[in-house]
Parts: sequence; structure tokens; C-alpha cells
Amino acid sequence: MTNSSSARLSTLACDIGATRIKLGLVHEAKVIAQDMIASYSEGPLADRLPDLAAAFRKLCAANGIKPRDCAGISLSLPSIVDAATGRILAEYGRFRDMPGLDLRGWAKAEFGLPLALENDARMATIGEWRHGAGRGCDDLVMITLGTGLGTSAICQGRVLRGKHGQAGCLCGHLTLHYNGRPCGCGNIGCAEAEASSKFLSELAHARPDFAQSALRHEPLLDFAAVFRRAAEGDACALAIREHSLRVWSALAVNLIHAYDPELVIVGGGIMGSADVIQPAMQAYIDQHAHTPWGRVRVVPSQLGDAAALIAGAWLLQEQSLSL
Ligand SMILES: [Zn+2]
Repeated sequence: MTNSSSARLSTLACDIGATRIKLGLVHEAKVIAQDMIASYSEGPLADRLPDLAAAFRKLCAANGIKPRDCAGISLSLPSIVDAATGRILAEYGRFRDMPGLDLRGWAKAEFGLPLALENDARMATIGEWRHGAGRGCDDLVMITLGTGLGTSAICQGRVLRGKHGQAGCLCGHLTLHYNGRPCGCGNIGCAEAEASSKFLSELAHARPDFAQSALRHEPLLDFAAVFRRAAEGDACALAIREHSLRVWSALAVNLIHAYDPELVIVGGGIMGSADVIQPAMQAYIDQHAHTPWGRVRVVPSQLGDAAALIAGAWLLQEQSLSL
């Protein structure tokens, strides 16, 4: 791939997380090369842009491509993004300078390229919809189970965004318990505050049986440990597993009732335990979702971390058409 006509089909894609910034060179819906740099998200994102530019240049050079011959840059971010204007509307204690950044201006000045940006869960959903578990389905929702709970919806073949870009994206902050745990978003009893990696330690320590649990001796208290200890019969781990499966399933029912999808795609790091999560969510939905037209299927994501990178080409095309 050394001539500019094939490079034109490539996208420089970037998924900005709290600890890692993943970069990819994407060609025809495949990540052909990737790299990773540290986020240092407690500092400003502006300080990471020179390293990001250098990493993109390195990726291009290693693959015989000039950055300016690419279709553009895509960026997925852990925030609410107004995709039409390119404005980032909030920060959540990470990269506090995000709302004031002109990332499109940066991409133009640095590479002479257009830049498309979106919420990270929505990017993953677009990737799965166009190229992964959601191919051929124009009504779907996706839930990513990870540090937080990300959600997004595709309705009648359109990416659901709403007036300010937040429609469908905040369902991890739908209220599951009105007298539940306070969440960082300002709400109380959010699904995310009831069962996500961010709140797992708090959830476990609040249980009286935690003191007797093998979880107490885990070097890293994450959901992989919870599912492993639950499979061994640990009572505390079993209770946390059942609680979390119910929270994620109830959240899925809420999304089904709100957005009328045919498919629920479930992704994120916690889906390393998909063999337990997928059938549990399917059974709960079969029993509790009101879908008189038929059955909503629950499927694991197919593209994993690559989904948000692969979505970049579609997003660039969509945003260039709407500009
Ligand atoms: Zn919340």
C-alpha cells in the first residue's frame, strides 16, 4: 500500500481512554497497524497532542503512507460530543481542558486532514453496526460493560444523537434504584453506580460476607476475579455476580423499552465473561422485556477494541456529507 489512491481509503483512528490512547491505521474496515500511548488523563489533553501526532506519523511511515494522503482522522472520547460542531461538551475529571479544545483545528494544522469525533460508546456501536455483530440490522442498542457503562442506539438505520449529542449515550445513568448509591453524574442509583468496574470495590466492601470471601485476597478486584471466584462457589462473588447480571439485564430491558431494537450488542472488557453474561441477559430479557412483536436477541460484540477505530471512516464520510 504505497500509492496515494489506496492511502486515501485509510483513516487515522484514535480511541482516547482514561489510561491508554489507542491508535490505529484503518484500511477497508480493518486495523492494519496499531499502537498505544499513555493517556496521562489527569493532565490536559492538549499536552498529549504532540505525542499523538508523532505516533500517527510513525504508524504511517511504518506502512509506507503519508498522513496527508489519508481520508482523515477519527477520535473517540469518553465524553458527550456534539458531532455536528466538533465540540466536546463535558469532562468527567479527566482531560479537564477537553471542552475548550479545537481538535478539528489541530488536525487541520498538523496534518491538513479533516477530523471527526464522537462519544466512545457510540463509536463502538457504529463499528459493530457497520462491520461487526450488528451488520444487516438497522435497529440495535449496544451496552459496553467496563469502567463505566457505555450505551448507544441505532434507530431505523440512523445513529441516535438528539439535540445535544447525548441521546442514547447516558443509559448507564438511567435510574435503577431511586434510593440507591450516589453516582458521579449527579444522579442516584444509576446502573453504572450499581454494577461497573468503577464501583466494584465499593460494592464488594459494602457486603457483610466480603470479610470471609476469597475476593478479599485478590491482588486485583475486578469482574474477572468475581466471575472466577463465583464459578468456584464463593458466596460473596456469587452474590455480586447475580446482582450485576440483574443490573445489566434490567438496563438492557430499559433500553429495549426506550428504543425498540431487534438486537442488543454487549461489549466491553467485562465481556471476557461473555459465556455467563450473554445467556443470563438473554434469559432475563426473554422473561421481562415487553416486545409483543417477537424476541430481542443478545449478542456479544465481535470487534472488541477495534470497533471504535473501524467506525472512523463511516463517521468521516457522514460528517463530510453533513458539513
Ligand atoms: Zn450516573
